[in-house]
Amino acid sequence: MHDSTEIMGIKILKTTKDEFLRKDLLPRLQQQDKSHVVTANPEIVMKTREDLEYKQIVQSADYVVPDGAGILLAAKYMKQPLPERIAGYDLMMELLELAEAEGLSCYFLGAKEDVNEKTVSEAKKKFPGLSIAGRHHGFFDIDDPEIVAQVVQTDPDLIFVALGLPRQEQWIAKHKDKFRKGLFMGIGGSFDILAGEVKRAPEIWIKLNLEWLYRLLKQPFRWKRMLKVFEFMFRVVLRR
Ligand code: UDP
Repeated sequence: MHDSTEIMGIKILKTTKDEFLRKDLLPRLQQQDKSHVVTANPEIVMKTREDLEYKQIVQSADYVVPDGAGILLAAKYMKQPLPERIAGYDLMMELLELAEAEGLSCYFLGAKEDVNEKTVSEAKKKFPGLSIAGRHHGFFDIDDPEIVAQVVQTDPDLIFVALGLPRQEQWIAKHKDKFRKGLFMGIGGSFDILAGEVKRAPEIWIKLNLEWLYRLLKQPFRWKRMLKVFEFMFRVVLRR
């Protein structure tokens, strides 16, 4: 198991994306061990402060990896640096590639109906050999037994859940036990990016750890969420 850096009670793995894929996820997928992966950004960590049940869900996930420049900055400030950012979108793309190579099937749960449909067609375009277990949009009650029964029935190897925060983690925690196998991952707005609805920041912004600023400029209505990121940083500084 990897070392971790604990931020506000959440243990975040000290690993790189490649190592995580090769040493952790691939063997678990091959052995059909169930896993829940959380790509934690400051918003997720802040939410765990406000909602104890959500905190327990994140704490009981098999893997929590660092997403978001704020997490990396916080870890560095705490003198327990993390090697690199593992963004949900990047991890999903690598997993799709891996799924194609290994013949593993994927289920796409979440986002608006048209975005969900487009996500699957784009995934098929990028990875023609990919096996699609099924898809469903993300606007339903997370307790709905019919939706989960539909997903279970397809017996997927990977389940990408784009229901936003905190619903995606809640859906996974509630229903994971009903599955025989599966790598479950909440991926926020990643379907919107894959479907081409939302543009990801140019590479240089990502390299400079400024993806958050790009998003803020492109989607200024998100400013309220950005306040959470600042509050997160402020609390990290206060704690030391
Ligand atoms: N979403 C969904 N059902 C919902 C709320 C959101 O499927 O009830 C989808 C939304 O369409 C988007 C993704 O979840 O594709 C992430 O949404 P958002 O950016 O609002 O969430 P966050 O950034 O908080 O994870």
